[in-house]
Amino acid sequence: MPDRRGPAGRKGVSMELGLGNKRALVTASSKGIGRACALELAREGADVVICARGVETLERARDEIAGETGGKVVAVQCDLTFGSQIEELLERTDTELGGLDVLVTNAGGPPSGHFMDFDDEAWMKAVSLNLMSVVRLNRLAVALMRRAGSGSIVNLTSISVKEPIRGLVLSNSIRAGVVGLSKTLANELGPEGIRVNVVCPGYTATGRMTDLMTARAERENRSYEEIAAGFYESVPLGRFAEPVDIARMVAFLSSEAAGYVNGVTVQVDGGAVRGLL
Ligand code: NAD
Repeated sequence: MPDRRGPAGRKGVSMELGLGNKRALVTASSKGIGRACALELAREGADVVICARGVETLERARDEIAGETGGKVVAVQCDLTFGSQIEELLERTDTELGGLDVLVTNAGGPPSGHFMDFDDEAWMKAVSLNLMSVVRLNRLAVALMRRAGSGSIVNLTSISVKEPIRGLVLSNSIRAGVVGLSKTLANELGPEGIRVNVVCPGYTATGRMTDLMTARAERENRSYEEIAAGFYESVPLGRFAEPVDIARMVAFLSSEAAGYVNGVTVQVDGGAVRGLL
């Protein structure tokens, strides 16, 4: 074994992610969890395509990630609710990176609310954003990964797939489909060397979390501080995740270090989910 030196000069570094020169696509990645995943993969040596709807924030994220890591980062404008734009995104990824080894699917979250708050149109919009985008991205990515001979897909969902969250009926219902899809793909594609896993972020300090707490405070006629305190108390570690906490798990699962991990749905939530699995 080569004498590698890790942090604090320790010998025998055991974890080497093996993401150098891998080609990765992370969707909905101009902000928050998606951006953190793209940054983490770039830090580990991958070339990365990022996407979002708004060009200005997207290009800023591209410049910041490239500046911080020195890696190749490509920004592609894409609204994930349109199949045609997802097709263009994968075509650009193939052209810019010369193929694809790692896919991380993420999207904006559906609006918060209770069952009787939403009509068919609201449901179909959420299905399009949080289920159909994953179906389309996975299908197109698998075609490229088959060409490469292997690959890793991480579909990001939420702890709502393990324990439904009060006032998030759309997320609670639709994201469960992503878990069913991912497990099915893990079975179907494992023999081809393509791994599929799911990461479920717990409460994470991003703009989305601030918006959700504001909406709940208004709905329940309580103060924002009271709502925030309730969320903190519900997490055994007593804090929200930072986006990088989620991104590290995503980078690990995307990497060769996790080469025997396939078909799992793992939460990164400070212990917030109270069930056994
Ligand atoms: P965020 O608002 O910080 O970032 C969302 C990103 O998605 C942005 O880059 C935005 O531009 C992009 N986006 C939104 N709609 C898009 C579309 N139609 N097409 C392309 N890009 C689009 O949010 P976040 O907190 O990072 O959340 C990301 C996902 O993770 C959401 O689905 C959210 O529901 C889920 N999630 C968040 C938390 C949390 O506590 N923050 C917990 C569990 C799950």
